Amino acid sequence: MKLSLMKKLSFGFLAAVIGSIFITSLISNFMINSKFNNYLIEQHNITVKNIVGIINDMYDKSNRQFNINSDELTRYAMMQQLFIEVKDTSGKVLYSSGNSYLENNNMMKSMMNSHMMGQSMMGSSGIAAGEYKEDNFTLTSNNINIGTTVIGYLGASYFNSSAITFKATLNHSFILSAIIALAFGLILSLIISRQISKPLFNITKTANKMRDGNLEARLETNSNTTEIDQLSDSMNFLAQTLQQQEMLRKRLTSDMAHEIRTPLTTLKTHIEAMLDGIWEPTPERLQIFHDEVTRLTKLVDNLRNLSKLEQTTSALNKTAFNLSSEIEKIIDNFMPMFEKAGYRLSSEIAPGIEVVLDKDKFNQIMHNLISNSYKYLTPNGAAKVTLKKDDRNITIIVQDNGIGIGEKDLPHIFERFYRSDISRSKDTGGSGIGLTITKALVESQGGKIYAESIPFNKTIFTITFPTERIKGTL
Ligand code: ADP
Repeated sequence: MKLSLMKKLSFGFLAAVIGSIFITSLISNFMINSKFNNYLIEQHNITVKNIVGIINDMYDKSNRQFNINSDELTRYAMMQQLFIEVKDTSGKVLYSSGNSYLENNNMMKSMMNSHMMGQSMMGSSGIAAGEYKEDNFTLTSNNINIGTTVIGYLGASYFNSSAITFKATLNHSFILSAIIALAFGLILSLIISRQISKPLFNITKTANKMRDGNLEARLETNSNTTEIDQLSDSMNFLAQTLQQQEMLRKRLTSDMAHEIRTPLTTLKTHIEAMLDGIWEPTPERLQIFHDEVTRLTKLVDNLRNLSKLEQTTSALNKTAFNLSSEIEKIIDNFMPMFEKAGYRLSSEIAPGIEVVLDKDKFNQIMHNLISNSYKYLTPNGAAKVTLKKDDRNITIIVQDNGIGIGEKDLPHIFERFYRSDISRSKDTGGSGIGLTITKALVESQGGKIYAESIPFNKTIFTITFPTERIKGTL
């Protein structure tokens, strides 16, 4: 049977409350009853002992006879619902209360029985009521036997009315507290289960909206339940990622359409002009054709890169090499290009750093980062490559003072086809795929890459490889 979460939680809660009330009252009732009965029996014994003492005191030692105060003994018999009899040594009955006070007690007994029935739900004392008992006591004076006294009582005579009322009140308070605890538990279970199930219901509702294509839908994350907030956060993150992917896909389609249409239009108009005999096919004009075709080819190459991206993590060909001299070599290769454009390229390379990495892929990483710096530098710009090592990491920094990356663009530059608005306006011929490949290449070798930037001031790309991982075996 499938139950809603709210019902499940409420039932579970209620079952727990009822169970604990039942067990607590069972145990406490049993404990209180047995202690209380012992207490009553003790009280009864003390009373009997007192009465025996009083009878003993009624013995006149000088006259060697009892001065029985019948009124007093009758009062005791009545109050305590006892049968009291005093006999001298010859067996002559000096006083007898008669058993009328015991009769009285029968009423009490039935009263008590009904109370005990009422409490049997909660656990009964288990004391047998109503059975008549007699205790004989020898009366002595100076260790000489002076007579006997018989004290008789009905089994439960020690349950006087206030004791019975006390027990009844106790049981009533148990029942009352059970009812209050139940009501309290019910309310609490409803509140808590509502608190849990309501946000889950909202999550389902929002997930359904997302499924129907509304990626703007977001969840509120203030449910005061950590796990639900985490779930909501993840859902929001998922929606945001999907939305970004969707946006990138649209952006890619329009970018591609635009980038392909421009060279095609140029080619078409020029060819038409030549066909119509308006234009001579001069080498300069053919050169324009060539340039446009080259642009198209580059575009197709970028698309191919995209499919290569999927394979970057596979087939690593790790070798041990000296990272310091490798980076110096890469910088040397770039130097003429920078100098020609009037840019400065400097370096600060810690010597002799040995690593185990895929050398070609590492070259591609450095190539992408340094050529990005080159692409986005402004006149008289400068770039710098740093390599350093500490106990935990080997760090490579590629820094430049070019156009930089705006705060809005920074979180996206590693996404496919993402190009900042400034870089779009600067016709660099980029396609927004280089950093995506770079990141995949770094991460596939256990490294991390991140970027910081202050536009037109400094842009820093930092790569770290954990020292432990890359000095390992091949
Ligand atoms: P692209 O081929 O467009 O350069 P990348 O993936 O290499 O693609 O870079 C993505 C975007 O990141 C670039 O379009 C540019 O907006 C930004 N970017 C990358 N490197 C730099 C840099 N050194 N300076 C400024 N912007 C940069």
